[in-house]
Amino acid sequence: THFGFETVAEQDKQKKVGEVFHSVAQKYNIMNDVMSAGLHRLWKRFAVDVSGVGQGDKVLDIAGGSGDLSSLFAKKVGTQAAHNPGQVILTDINASMLGVGRDRMIDAGLTVPAAQCNAETLPFADESFHCVIVAFGLRNMTHKDNALREMQRVLKPGGRLLVLEFSKVWQPLEKLYDTYSFKLLPKLGKWIANDEPSYRYLAESIRMHPDQETLKQMMHDAGFAKVDYYNLTAGVVALHKGIKL
Ligand code: SAM
Repeated sequence: THFGFETVAEQDKQKKVGEVFHSVAQKYNIMNDVMSAGLHRLWKRFAVDVSGVGQGDKVLDIAGGSGDLSSLFAKKVGTQAAHNPGQVILTDINASMLGVGRDRMIDAGLTVPAAQCNAETLPFADESFHCVIVAFGLRNMTHKDNALREMQRVLKPGGRLLVLEFSKVWQPLEKLYDTYSFKLLPKLGKWIANDEPSYRYLAESIRMHPDQETLKQMMHDAGFAKVDYYNLTAGVVALHKGIKL
């Protein structure tokens, strides 16, 4: 990568992630509710609550998929307000996931444009947004450091990055959580979405993802200040927040 080339492993990961999300797109929302027993809705609401975003702000939803965060933020910033309307842009690398998200925005009557793009090379000008959110997306990115730097670049000074992602669970619960992720989760994927391999990939990608402190350091390295995190549901998920100074 030093010379701008991608290794075979990196290309494989990107291809695999593309296949997984193409495959799960249509069943994505119902699987989220079943797998998390509805908790993902609370985690997402919490992220919006601590974002500090208000009326008239501009928000970028990265790896936004089926658009849960975009629709919550659209209400928060008032995309349809007559005075000082805010703006939310839904983005994702995967056309199938983005298609589901775009249709949901239209069905809900929300004014949220959708753009297909890779988080590692964002097609937005420097200092464009008050808030950037990436929910359950960073884990799937090949070059997380590049993606974090891009997020920093497109934020306005004082803007916030929020990273909602699976993380390291409280140690006494580790065994139970492993059993759930590696035994039950792929079966749920099989029964509900007829797709066991994608949900096995999900369990593996969660295990590989950096823990709370490592991600905090990565955000510092990408130029964020005042980085901190909240553990949600005993660390099953963490919400990291950083500021661009
Ligand atoms: N944010 C949504 C949510 O919380 O429900 C969707 C999360 S979904 C688990 C992960 C998304 O990350 C997928 O839609 C996938 O296409 C997207 N993704 C993976 N790699 C990406 C990249 N390099 N750039 C942008 N999106 C990416």
